[in-house]
Amino acid sequence: MALDFARLAASLPTRSGLDGEGLERRSAQLDEEWGTLFREGQIPPEYLEVWWDCPRCRDSGWLHADEKCNCLLQAEIDTLYHLSRLPPELLRQTFETFRVDLYPAEARPYMEQVLADCREFARRVARGLEVENLVFLGGVGLGKTFLSSAIANTVLQAGRTVVYVTLSDLFDLIRRCKFDLDDAEGLSMLREADLLILDDLGGEKVSDFSLQELFTLINHRINHRRPLVVSTNLSPKALEEVYTARIFSRLMGSARLIKLEGDDIRLVLKRGRG
Ligand SMILES: [Zn+2]
Repeated sequence: MALDFARLAASLPTRSGLDGEGLERRSAQLDEEWGTLFREGQIPPEYLEVWWDCPRCRDSGWLHADEKCNCLLQAEIDTLYHLSRLPPELLRQTFETFRVDLYPAEARPYMEQVLADCREFARRVARGLEVENLVFLGGVGLGKTFLSSAIANTVLQAGRTVVYVTLSDLFDLIRRCKFDLDDAEGLSMLREADLLILDDLGGEKVSDFSLQELFTLINHRINHRRPLVVSTNLSPKALEEVYTARIFSRLMGSARLIKLEGDDIRLVLKRGRG
């Protein structure tokens, strides 16, 4: 069929008055003129070829109807990273870069165990398996945020959704979403993300409105078995005082406590450098 058409086209005079052979000659002539123009303009000969960001799928994102190309998978992961609100410096905090050797010698066996437990937690969340929530307790600079980030990075790499917020950002976000109807999506992400990390429950006074919202969120996630990681520098007693017995018991009743004690690791690092 295609061949017949080509034969027919070649035998017919065209509007330019050229027959098939004439057209071929003209085409070759034009190619040569292009070549000359390109050389004169110092334009690379491949300039007019189609350039794909991803030659594998020719930027369609799909290799077959049901097989996504890696470039699309990566773009989806990048979007998740963006949604996760993970601050850029935390993206580098992974299990591979966690340094147990910075802890005092007597604390290292315990930290190895903590590290192994956090890895296992992250691995299970990444696979969508049920987990016990984690609550990190301990002073500033002991690795709570680092371990939370490492968990977040592992879960994100598996293509699952993570929302990472400090408590003060969470309250800002809730206020914005509640009073700005355009941003309803923000709150559903908090409830539905495969993993929610609440960093930095501190000792500042919290309003009744914020406490109610916090309880609703934690309660929703626990009821729907959606994993949660919380970190605080408060003692359990102070945590209960600031965040009410209701939130405290709901949170602690379903979580595994990981206590981090000792010197500020960031100071140890600085001393090591100095
Ligand atoms: Zn591709």
